[in-house]
Amino acid sequence: MPEGHTVHRLARTFASLYSGQALRVSSPQGRFADGAAVLDGRRLVASEAWGKQLFLGFGPADVSDPQVTGVTSGSDTLWLRTHLGLYGAWTFAGAPDAPEVAHAIGAPRRRIGERETTAPTGPSSLVEPVETQVSTGSTSGAEWIMPDPRGQVRVRLLGDHAVADLTGPTACEVITAEEKTAVEARLGPDPIRDDGDVEAFVAAVGRSRVTVGQQLLDQAVVAGVGNIYRAEALFRAGVDPLRPGRDLPAATVRAIWDDLVTLMRDGAAHGAIVTTRPSDRRYGSATRRERGYVPDLGSGEHKPVLDGRRRTRQNTDGAPDAVPADQAFYVYHRDGLPCRVCGTPVLVKELAGRNLFWCDACQT
Ligand SMILES: [Zn+2]
Repeated sequence: MPEGHTVHRLARTFASLYSGQALRVSSPQGRFADGAAVLDGRRLVASEAWGKQLFLGFGPADVSDPQVTGVTSGSDTLWLRTHLGLYGAWTFAGAPDAPEVAHAIGAPRRRIGERETTAPTGPSSLVEPVETQVSTGSTSGAEWIMPDPRGQVRVRLLGDHAVADLTGPTACEVITAEEKTAVEARLGPDPIRDDGDVEAFVAAVGRSRVTVGQQLLDQAVVAGVGNIYRAEALFRAGVDPLRPGRDLPAATVRAIWDDLVTLMRDGAAHGAIVTTRPSDRRYGSATRRERGYVPDLGSGEHKPVLDGRRRTRQNTDGAPDAVPADQAFYVYHRDGLPCRVCGTPVLVKELAGRNLFWCDACQT
């Protein structure tokens, strides 16, 4: 499941691609036909994320360019609320010169949000081949051919330069401004948002006997933290994940929040989660098993391990200047491998339905 930084990147991408444009909204699959009909032709006036929720604000169709007229979201704005859940993904395609399609997303056609936390071993890429892209050869712009919907596309958003398809979401609905406020009221503070309220987080953690490891995955306590940020933030804070929240000093909880702000904003800026300090990146390339590869004694080639060992896939995989996936984390998916700081084998245990990874020597 994508963590909050990915959803914030999506929000920025939609703002950059579509802001102010009247969008053609459809549901190729048909399951969202009524909602699509309500939004079709309206202009995108806002694009926001709160935790793992994405909110796209649609104003009336009859205003001219909101960027020019200053029209922003208001009480008459309709919101498309989506949540990717475990299997959802947005796929983008568009003109090569469309902003974001060519830049932050990395390719003219790319999926965001697909099973970011775990994936089977083996070489893989989130970048899909460029299928339909025709350049006019002029500098004034490029033509492109809209791809056919692939798979069960719940909603398709077509703007001036690009198309975005949503498949497999957990949630996809049109809500009013009032209903959006109600959804947000049920969510904890989001460390990536400027309005993220540290004191609300400290209070929520401090009034519960639930373990802090469980609390960090509770979207009502803190929004946007997933399994990777949970494990990594607790390691960096030196906190035992099995400690009840109310036993933690408030200063420690504040420090966890501050670290989440740093880590998650960095993730939103760069598109990948990296929590290791450069000096702690030993045990990385030395461990082939950790990379998901073992030598094939017959051919001498490295083949993916098939024993269930998984690797973490991120959107920057393959980028030459990115921190390699096997060096990006302290404990996540490193069970059985030596702790980067003390060398003790990293532990794993199921907590709140997800595997929790930690070092019981460093986290006391
Ligand atoms: Zn350790």
